Amino acid sequence: MIRIRIPEKVNRIIGTLAAAGHEAYAVGGCVRDALLGREPADWDITTSASPCEVKALFGRTIDTGIQHGTVTVMLGREGFEVTTYRVDGAYEDCRHPKEVTFTKSLLEDLKRRDFTINAMAYSEDGGLVDAFDGTGDLERGVIRCVGEARERFTEDALRMLRAVRFAAQLGFSLDEDTGAAIRELCGNLGKVSAERIQTELVKLLVSPHPERLRDAWELGITAVVLPEFDACMACGQNTPHHMGSVGEHTIRALQEAEPDRILRLTMLLHDVGKPQTKTAGEDGTDHFYCHAEAGEELAGKILRRLKFDNDTVRQVKKLVRCHDDEPALTPAGVRRAANRIGEELFPLYLKVRRADIMAQSPETRPEKLARLTRTEELYRQILEEKNCFTLKQLAVTGRDLIEAGIPAGPELGAILGTLLEQVIEEPEKNERVRLLDEAKKQYQNGAGRTAAGSDGL
Ligand code: ATP
Ligand code: MG
Repeated sequence: MIRIRIPEKVNRIIGTLAAAGHEAYAVGGCVRDALLGREPADWDITTSASPCEVKALFGRTIDTGIQHGTVTVMLGREGFEVTTYRVDGAYEDCRHPKEVTFTKSLLEDLKRRDFTINAMAYSEDGGLVDAFDGTGDLERGVIRCVGEARERFTEDALRMLRAVRFAAQLGFSLDEDTGAAIRELCGNLGKVSAERIQTELVKLLVSPHPERLRDAWELGITAVVLPEFDACMACGQNTPHHMGSVGEHTIRALQEAEPDRILRLTMLLHDVGKPQTKTAGEDGTDHFYCHAEAGEELAGKILRRLKFDNDTVRQVKKLVRCHDDEPALTPAGVRRAANRIGEELFPLYLKVRRADIMAQSPETRPEKLARLTRTEELYRQILEEKNCFTLKQLAVTGRDLIEAGIPAGPELGAILGTLLEQVIEEPEKNERVRLLDEAKKQYQNGAGRTAAGSDGL
């Protein structure tokens, strides 16, 4: 008999419900992960008790999704979602059920779930309930729909992207019929909300197998949710730097980057500006002039369309913009680059460059890697020596200059910019008295006035 170790608190919730005469099980992703020997992210509980009955049994609860039967039971600081067995009513627009109805049958609840590996329930008393051979599919490494794939994808089109996401997380393959159904029905993904697509896309990207994005492309999913990627797959690059299409390079670059959300999103989009900037040189090699700038703009459009938050959009856009930057290999050169890219993003920029280079053709790689390694060393040195490369680190502030008699305004900003520029070139100049003198001198001979209007750097 299969045994799973359930956390004490989950057992307590199940026990409380059972003592009151209800059925209760751990269900879905946590059972799947526990059977795979992975630490589940969270433990969901399914029960025959109605939401009211659940609330009556526990001291502190939150109405998380009460209309769908979900109540969060708080034990200490931890919350556990307890959801009443339910059947989803008729689906509208391939998106969500018009209504949900509660049921007293666990089997009915398991039937509404997406994949066999996600449709298992477990409790210490009831054991494993696996009505659709989820354990068999776990052993075989297969993502297979519960029931008829076409029906299930027609109910909720998001499941098609979820299938690829789980395949990427677990290193599984898609059941043949499930894959065939996706090919037929992927167009319906256009009706799914951007927020839901975003969640699944990010999980796919930060998974151990981001290369499964290729499956999403082959199946026709990206054509609907990320057509810009299809353009990359169709964009050959005849240059000594590359060995495949922009899309294939993108996939390699994803694999080379650590599974950080911002980093993987950047790798996904770093060359997205290439298809629109491609030109053929007279010798037949391709060029992609200004693709980073074009990519920055397009990346912004894509991320906004997928409803990413402002901070994510800002970071990824900036990293796309500077992904090809090569600072001069001097301390001042690297300080200038760190100033331009910013101290927050510079470490990520270095990782973007490494992943990008690792995904380029091996012939030119050693030289590029040597440059990058030198840049990293110089940057480490700059940090160690606490060299100034941001306004924040400058030994004088705007307030200091105001106190020294320079009026607030764009001119003052320009003077600060000039001071920073000087200090970036010569770190030993970052000294308060000296900078104040320099600022006054500049103000007096109007250097600030001529520089005002430019951003000073
Ligand atoms: P993760 O580890 O990413 O949280 P998970 O399997 O828990 O994986 P969730 O999205 O949290 O995935 O969903 C929890 C469970 O709810 C799933 O295991 C599945 O049984 C069910 N489920 C979630 N979304 C759907 C859906 N769109 N259609 C059918 N069942 C779903
Ligand atoms: Mg989950």
